[in-house]
Order: sequence, then structure tokens, then C-alpha cells
Amino acid sequence: MFRSEAESLIERVPDFHRVLHAWYDAYHRQLPWREVTSPYRTTVSEFMCQQTQVDTVIPYFNRWVAAWPDFRALAEADEAAVMKAWEGLGYYRRARNLHALAREVLLMEAPPRTADGWIELPGVGAYTAAAIASIAYGDPVAVVDGNVVRVLTRLTGDTRTFKDNGAAVKAVDALATALIDPVFPGDYNQALMELGATVCFRKKPLCALCPVREFCAADARKSAEAIPRLLPKAVEHIALNRLFVRDAAGALLLRRYAGDAVTLSGLCELPEATDLVPLLDEADRIAVKKRAITTRRYTESIYAIPVTPELLRRVRRDKNLFWASPAELATLTLSGPHRKWVGELMERSA
Ligand code: SF4
Repeated sequence: MFRSEAESLIERVPDFHRVLHAWYDAYHRQLPWREVTSPYRTTVSEFMCQQTQVDTVIPYFNRWVAAWPDFRALAEADEAAVMKAWEGLGYYRRARNLHALAREVLLMEAPPRTADGWIELPGVGAYTAAAIASIAYGDPVAVVDGNVVRVLTRLTGDTRTFKDNGAAVKAVDALATALIDPVFPGDYNQALMELGATVCFRKKPLCALCPVREFCAADARKSAEAIPRLLPKAVEHIALNRLFVRDAAGALLLRRYAGDAVTLSGLCELPEATDLVPLLDEADRIAVKKRAITTRRYTESIYAIPVTPELLRRVRRDKNLFWASPAELATLTLSGPHRKWVGELMERSA
């Protein structure tokens, strides 16, 4: 069924572009990276907006471009300052990749002008390459993210079941490519993403306000909320025990994550009890906190324990453990949840 719907949409593509562009011109959100545009600002916004809400990104983006207004300034920035500026935005590998990208761009005569060129740079996948190249350089390549998948599968009444978002992206890629506006690809891509983000919601889409409603098979069949069909993600539950230890001077014991940990490398967190305190007393548990990272659900129990000679001996043996005074604490980069929890616990134990 959706094949013929897709063909019919492609046949009507000039009308589809016309109404979509008109709606985008009139109603797009005013965002700082749209008000003043440059390839650098587009790149920063695309990195920050991966897996993060736009409202959360705006203040980070403004501070970032004020501190480092172009690729050169970012390339020359200190890595610790870059990580600190990202504190609270999550998925910290993005910050390291963006920093590395700026350094690579500086080695080139000019940034790449096509998606094929961008995809060679650190942290740039197919989606980000298409977004940057189309928005900043007019490369006619389709952006396909979760929002675009939702809009296109609904427009074509595509009821296939996809095993995950990646499979859905792959499945709609040919249609997305057939629909791209070769004259204004950047605005077209942004319009489709904007439609998914502000009108074609996963639940309760605002079909009555939708500029492309006349093209929509799912709306005609009253089946929009049932599309796209994605298999539920497997969720992993992880329980961790953390330590909250302060020495006589009030310094706090922290662990700096090293190596290539996907989410935490370079960040500081309260240390895990494993290897430091084999046996914990339930009476010492002062908090139980929860957080989610992608499909992982963490439950972190925090124990306040005294400094003992045995603990000091074990701390000295691990180069990633260190004591941070309250003043140092403010300068370190902690993961967002741990920054909040440490603040609460320090206040309680003051
Ligand atoms: Fe989405 Fe409704 Fe518009 Fe169809 S009509 S694209 S379901 S908002």
C-alpha cells in the first residue's frame, strides 16, 4: 500500500515543496543558530542537538559560540575547558569529537562542502553530514532522523514494523532522497525536521494544523499514532553502589573516568564501592538515585563512609581516584546527575 502512496507523493512533489516551504518560512522557531548562520554555528548546533532537546541546547550554544566563535578558536581551546562547557549536556563524546573536528578542519584549506566530505570528520554520521552540508552549503542530500522517519512513514501510510530507528532510517532513505528539494535543500530538510518536532508529534499529532495534511495517508485513515511501528527497545537495568567520602579537610573522594568509556571518559563521578569497600553497611546508605543513559536504567545507591587507613591505602593504589576540595570541585567536569547529587549531599553534610 505505502509504495503507491510514496509514488503519488513523489508525483506531487512541487506542491509538497511549496506548502512545506511556505509553512516553514512563516512558522519556524527562532533559534540562535538560525538567526546568525555559518558552517561553524550549524556544526555546533547539530552536535549539541543530537539526543538533546532544543530548549536545553540554546543556553549551551550561546555560551559556546561566545567562548569559541569559529573553528580556529575551538581548535585552539583547552580540552578541559571544552569538557567543562559541555557539562550537563550529556553524551560527552560529542564534545571531544567536536573539538577534534575543529582541529581537523583547521588542517584543511576549507571545511568540506558536501556530505561525503563531512562524513569523514570525527563524530559525523550520515545524519549530521547531510544536515551540515545541506544547511551550510546547499548540498542536495536528504536528512533522515527520527522526526523525518515519522513524517514520511505517516505521509505514505507505511505500516511496516522496523526493528529499530536505524532500520527505519534505512527503509525511508530512498523516499527521502526522491523528495529532496534540489534548489533549497537546507530549508527543505529543516522544514521536514521542524514539522516532526513541532506538529507531527509521536503522540497526538496536530494534524488540523499540518501544512501537508492533504498529502497524508495516515491522517486520511485515522492511523497516524500507530505509525511508525518500531519494536520496543530492550532496557537494561544496572544497580551501582557509590561512595560519598570526605576527608578531615572536607575534600571529596572522586573518580576520573579514563580510557575510551563511551559516555564518561574524562568526567568525574563519585567512585563505585567495588574494589574500595567490599562490604557496605545498609545503615550508611544516604541516598538512592536513578538516571537513564540511552536504554540503560541506572539505580545508584550512595553510601557515606568514614576515611579509614585501609580506604586510604586502596585510594593511593588507583591513579584515577583523587580528593577534590570544595573549590576544586567547582572547576571539575562532573556528569550532570553527579553534579546535582554532589551539591545536595555536600549541603546536607556541611
Ligand atoms: Fe503528521 Fe498529521 Fe501532518 Fe500527517 S497530517 S504529517 S500525521 S501531522
